Amino acid sequence: MVQRVDFVSCTDYAERLPVAVDELFSASPYLAGSRFSGRRVLVKPNMLTDRLPEQAVTTHPELLRQVVRRLKRFGARVTVGDSPQNVLKLQQVWDRTGISAVCSDEQVPLVSFEQSARAVFELAGSDGVDHTVVMAGEALDAELVVNLPKVKSHFITRLSAAVKNVYGTVPGPAKTELHKFFSKNRDFARLLQEIWRRLPPSVSIADGVVGMSGEGPSNGYPLPMGFLAAAESPFALDYALCRVLAVDPARVPYLSGCGVAADEVELMGDVPKVGGFEVPSGLCSIDHLPNWLVRWTGNMVWVRPAFDYGRCIGCGRCVSACPKQALSLTGGKARRPVLKKRDCISCACCHEACPRGAVEMKPSALTRMLRIFHVNQ
Ligand code: SF4
Ligand code: SF4
Repeated sequence: MVQRVDFVSCTDYAERLPVAVDELFSASPYLAGSRFSGRRVLVKPNMLTDRLPEQAVTTHPELLRQVVRRLKRFGARVTVGDSPQNVLKLQQVWDRTGISAVCSDEQVPLVSFEQSARAVFELAGSDGVDHTVVMAGEALDAELVVNLPKVKSHFITRLSAAVKNVYGTVPGPAKTELHKFFSKNRDFARLLQEIWRRLPPSVSIADGVVGMSGEGPSNGYPLPMGFLAAAESPFALDYALCRVLAVDPARVPYLSGCGVAADEVELMGDVPKVGGFEVPSGLCSIDHLPNWLVRWTGNMVWVRPAFDYGRCIGCGRCVSACPKQALSLTGGKARRPVLKKRDCISCACCHEACPRGAVEMKPSALTRMLRIFHVNQ
C-alpha cells in the first residue's frame, strides 16, 4: 500500500509560514477539512523541556498557531497537550516554549497529561517481565490526534520526529520508569510502536523549518531545514525524513518491524535535500553489537554520561531524570552530579534533561573500537 508523505518548502516562521501551512493543507488528503469537522482533536506538539523556540528543542509555537487556526476553522474542538520531561516545571515549559501564549491567544485549552493517566497495556521489557504502560486519557479519548513533532537528532533513536513524539502521551514519572524497563534500543522501539497502536486515528505534521542536529534531542544546534511535511502514518513520515536527511532507516530502531516498508513510501511536493544533519557523537550503539561479543568483553563495553563541571550549575535535573538512581549530587556549595557506574543503563535521560549541555554520553574505548568494526558509523 502506498504511503503518501507531502512536503512544502518553508524557510521561516513569519511571512512564509501561513502560506506554507495553507499549501500543506491543500496538498495532503489527510488534512482535508472534513476529517476535523465537529471532532475532538488533540494537538500534540513536542514540549520536551523549558527551552525557547529558537533553540529548536520544541515545536515552534507559530506552527502550532497556524495549525490550530485551521482546525478551528474546520469546526474541530481543539485541545493542546503533551507531557514534558520535567513535569515539576510544567508551567515554565508551557511559558518558555511559547505554547501557553499561543493557546491563550487562540482560545484553546492547554492540558496537563499528568492527572489522566490510565493503564492501557502490558508489554514485556528488556528484563523479559511484563510492565504496565500508562497513557494520557486526553490522547486516548480524542477522536483524532494531530501530531506536531520537531525534526531532531536523538541519542538513542538517531532520529526524533513523528514516531518518537508519541512518547509524550505517557505521563511524566511513568515515562522515566519505562526507560528503565525498556533499556535496550530495540525494546524501546517496540514500546513506541505499541503506543502508536493504542492511539486514535492521527495525522502528523513535522516542523522541519529549523530542526536540530548534533547532540539531540535537547543539546544539539539549530539546523535550517526549510520544510514542513505531513503524512497519515508516522512511520511513513519518518522514513521520508530519513531520505531527506540522509539517515539510514535501518539504523532507526523503531522503523524495524513497524509495518510500513521503505519502498511503500512516496514523497510528494517540494521534497528538500538537507545537508549537514549530524547524529549525536556518542550515539548509543551497544545494541547493534552481537550479544556474544558484549558478553565476551565483560564490563568494558559501555556508553555512560561524562559531566562538564565547567558548565554544570548543580540544578539536579539529571539526578531526577535518572530512572536507575545512578546519579546523586555532592553536598556543599558546588553541587555536582556523581555517577554510580554499575547502575547506569545508558538510557541518556540525564543527557536529555540537562539545561546546560553539560552531559556528554561517552563510549568506552572498546565500544568505540567495536563500533568501527561492527556498526560502520
Ligand atoms: S546515569 Fe544517565 S544514562 Fe545512566 S541510567 Fe541514569 S539517566 Fe540513564
Ligand atoms: S549536569 Fe546538567 S542537569 Fe545535571 S546538575 Fe549539572 S547542569 Fe544540572
